[in-house]
Amino acid sequence: MPILETKNIIHLHPDILEAHGVLDARPLSKSLAIRLSQLQGGDIPDLVALANKVKNKFASQTHACTIMNAKSGACVEDCKFCAQSGRHTSEIETYALVKQEQILAAAEKTYSHGIRSFGIVTSGTGYTVLDDEFIKILSAIQAIHAKYPDLQVCASLGELSEETARALAQAKIAHYNINLQVNPARYAELVATTHAVACRIRTIRLLQNNGIKTCVGGILGLGESMLDRIELAYALKELDVDVIPLNVLIPLSGTAAEHQPPIPVAEIAKTFALYRLIHPLKIIKLAAGRETKLKDFQGLLMLSGANGLLTGGYLTTRGRKTEQDQVFMEE
Ligand code: SF4
Repeated sequence: MPILETKNIIHLHPDILEAHGVLDARPLSKSLAIRLSQLQGGDIPDLVALANKVKNKFASQTHACTIMNAKSGACVEDCKFCAQSGRHTSEIETYALVKQEQILAAAEKTYSHGIRSFGIVTSGTGYTVLDDEFIKILSAIQAIHAKYPDLQVCASLGELSEETARALAQAKIAHYNINLQVNPARYAELVATTHAVACRIRTIRLLQNNGIKTCVGGILGLGESMLDRIELAYALKELDVDVIPLNVLIPLSGTAAEHQPPIPVAEIAKTFALYRLIHPLKIIKLAAGRETKLKDFQGLLMLSGANGLLTGGYLTTRGRKTEQDQVFMEE
């Protein structure tokens, strides 16, 4: 082994050395993940470098998607971070399900930018019966497929029933997004009291039983600990979800999370690195908070294990233009 390489390895923290087993397809144990989560200072860039190697070896392809908010606000749930909850006083645009033409126009914009994944998102608890609104969404999905056969259509519509999950499978959606947000054991304390995390897990199982790929992630910055983030990562592993979007909280005015303090960039990078080591093969997406909270450090996150991003804006906040993100990803 060359002398330089030997020196570098000697200086690595022993827990990071042990975690190199991931490069040989050895799963990261929860106890090692917990030890890694306690690393500080100069050890964090070493952890990030390992996560980047794991990404390059097992998940080097980059994935980008856009979403459209097809129905906004007036939600009866009380998710602490969400400006669309009717219980919060955030000033947002509120509207019922938009017309099919508007959904098609948003899909067309995504397509024209060269992005091949488009998600339809609606506010609210979810759809458990095949009501008029749900049928309209199905019809919009079909219309997009007919016009852009190579555009993946995804959906994030809240909780589902066997009947609505089956209908989405028949409509051939690519992925369904339903986030667990935090350590499931602390969902009621950190996220919402009006519904249980068990209902979301039930929806994930229904989707999987119907052959739909799942996109399930969380939010960093809701007052959770590093241990909570690790618990969420292993909960997602147990559920064997396909895509993991990680958001960084944007504490919106009028929401119950508006006074949450920001978390340091080094901690965010460490979390992404740990998620990559725990989920070597999965798509891990950097979602909301990328521009507003990470600013100059967005690139660091793409070197910390993330291999995907949400581009072109979020549900109630603007993002960076898709064109700028394309240059960013190429660079
Ligand atoms: S996250 Fe969804 S379910 Fe929760 S308040 Fe917002 S719109 Fe409603």
